[in-house]
Amino acid sequence: MGEAMRPAENGTFDAVVIGAGFAGLYMLHRLRELGFRARVYEAGDGVGGTWYWNRYPGPRCDVESLQYSFSFSEELDQEWNWSEKYSPQPEILAYANHVADRFDLRGEIVFNTRVIATTFNEYDDTWLIETDRGDKVSARFCIMAVGCLSAPNRPAFEKMNDFRGPIYHTGEWPHDGVDFTGLRVGVIGTGSSAVQSIPIIAQQALQLTVFQRTATWSVPAWNERLSAESLKEAKAHYPELRAKARARPTGFYFPFNTEPALQASADERAQQYETAWQRGGLPFLGSYGDLLFDKSANDTIAEFARQKIHSIVKDPTTAELLCPRNVFGCKRLCVDTNYFETYNLPHVKLVDVSDTPIERFIRDGIVVGGTEYIVDAVVSATGFAAMTGSYDKIKITGRGGRTLAEKWRAGPRAYLGLASEGFPNLFMITGPGSPSVLASMIQAIEQHVDWLADCVGHMRDVGASSIEPMLADEDAWVAHVNDVSTVSLRSTCSSWYVGANIPGRPRVFMPYIGGFPVYVQKCNEVMNSAYNGFVLKGACSINAPPRMRFTERWQVPLDIEVISPAAVAAKRVPVV
Ligand code: FAD
Ligand code: NAP
Repeated sequence: MGEAMRPAENGTFDAVVIGAGFAGLYMLHRLRELGFRARVYEAGDGVGGTWYWNRYPGPRCDVESLQYSFSFSEELDQEWNWSEKYSPQPEILAYANHVADRFDLRGEIVFNTRVIATTFNEYDDTWLIETDRGDKVSARFCIMAVGCLSAPNRPAFEKMNDFRGPIYHTGEWPHDGVDFTGLRVGVIGTGSSAVQSIPIIAQQALQLTVFQRTATWSVPAWNERLSAESLKEAKAHYPELRAKARARPTGFYFPFNTEPALQASADERAQQYETAWQRGGLPFLGSYGDLLFDKSANDTIAEFARQKIHSIVKDPTTAELLCPRNVFGCKRLCVDTNYFETYNLPHVKLVDVSDTPIERFIRDGIVVGGTEYIVDAVVSATGFAAMTGSYDKIKITGRGGRTLAEKWRAGPRAYLGLASEGFPNLFMITGPGSPSVLASMIQAIEQHVDWLADCVGHMRDVGASSIEPMLADEDAWVAHVNDVSTVSLRSTCSSWYVGANIPGRPRVFMPYIGGFPVYVQKCNEVMNSAYNGFVLKGACSINAPPRMRFTERWQVPLDIEVISPAAVAAKRVPVV
């Protein structure tokens, strides 16, 4: 369906899904299993979402591939072979394509087509979906699978148009790659995308200048190839691993120490941190149970990581500049291969733009504090309008002509991050107020999709024409999401979790930080109570218990080794 000149569509569907990343693909699969007529619109010319767009040098997952993958099909788990502990973008994109082919999903996906508006029709409880290719289709359900990190943030620097070289954004990288050989390159930003790309760009570039506004916490990945034996061993226990992952606060499994950091002696802590550093990756934050709750505990891991930076980076001034001063793990922790080591290379320079921001672009460079830095090409690793950026780009009009943008002006409001009052039959996959980016996202996606599939299946069973959250329940959930966030040190810094990376955005902690299984239990309760907190319109057998077609596997207890009931009661749920 990717033809350049295809005619505009005017069809009617049971469901329209917007986006063909992992969320859109899996939603389509479940809708088809239910026998629903579905249409997926995707702006890109292929599936994969994040892994289709982010083709900068060096992208890979930071949750181990054996867990950063779909878990709904044991056959898929057994037949796919990940080559590395953290597999690279081309392999993850190949996996997304494999899923699309294996489950025969392409026929319902229309590529190169961006949804620009979706409007609720109150007379027949359907949505009219309009695209930039002139399509106007209607559907009972409109399902947003638009992604949490899919709307690139492009800060407008003064005189950018004067620059004569190319400016690339990591999140919209040219498909045929970029060769930086012999070029002077400037990278703006030091978040995860920059941390992954800087060491690789440095291998090619003649000169690399990194413009750093906030120093970043990063832990070595110690990435490695997965041997045939280790894959075989992992696959022999795959169902157990998947089950353990579902019971974890992060939706993925790793060894977690629940003890408080300050109860250990300084020597014990140093040993614990060293062991965890040598294991590497996001689990480093699981060295102790209170690192994101107690600032004094956090100071101990921060100091350890700062010492590591000083031990790696030879120039003490550069090392000091690279040492973050904010809470360890407050922004999304980065996972790297040779990031800090790269600053030892003679042609790599770090420019601090924290107090003296980028002033302007010139014909052949960037000016900071009156100094001209000459570059031939710029890489904008400046991230995304996270969580809601792709919603903002669609005119979503609900009941009474109210737009979602109006409703969300002071910050997103959604019941369980799944739906929003005033917008019946509009669903969100990993929407704001759900664990989403704080969990391993493919698990978060699968749980949402399974819940939604059971929900629309139930609506068909009972003849309901619409479902919509009740305002009081939505308000209570939004308040709970806010309350829980204040317990975590994560709420204290200017991260994209709170929208602070972009001037003018409301500052609200958007994902649900109470832990994945706590959230899943709440979703289960809502479903088991025949959708408590939602109004189902037109149902002829309103009290019929919902049939659990897909959500059975999410009925898991909390992993009490990690989350004790007391911890949950005290809202001290460990998070990564
Ligand atoms: P996306 O993959 O973002 O897909 C959304 C799709 O919707 C896109 O293809 C987009 O083109 C399309 N779309 C949006 N708006 C419209 C519209 N109006 N009309 C038509 N189409 C539209 N998460 C992890 O858990 N672990 C990781 O290791 C990890 N690594 C990441 C690395 C990078 C570089 C980035 C940017 C993110 C990473 N993430 C990671 C988060 C990642 O976004 C999710 O894991 C996951 O891929 C999201 O899938 P999705 O389908 O929800 O959204
Ligand atoms: P990001 O974390 O938001 O980082 C953007 C960087 O650009 C920050 O260093 C930011 O500085 C800087 N920046 C933004 N505007 C600027 C300005 N006007 N002037 C100077 N600097 C500016 O974005 P990202 O690196 O693309 O990562 C986003 C998320 O995607 C990650 O947190 C992660 O969840 C996911 N991701 C994961 C991986 C992975 O390892 N698997 C890789 C890439 C992305 P400030 O910090 O000061 O705002």
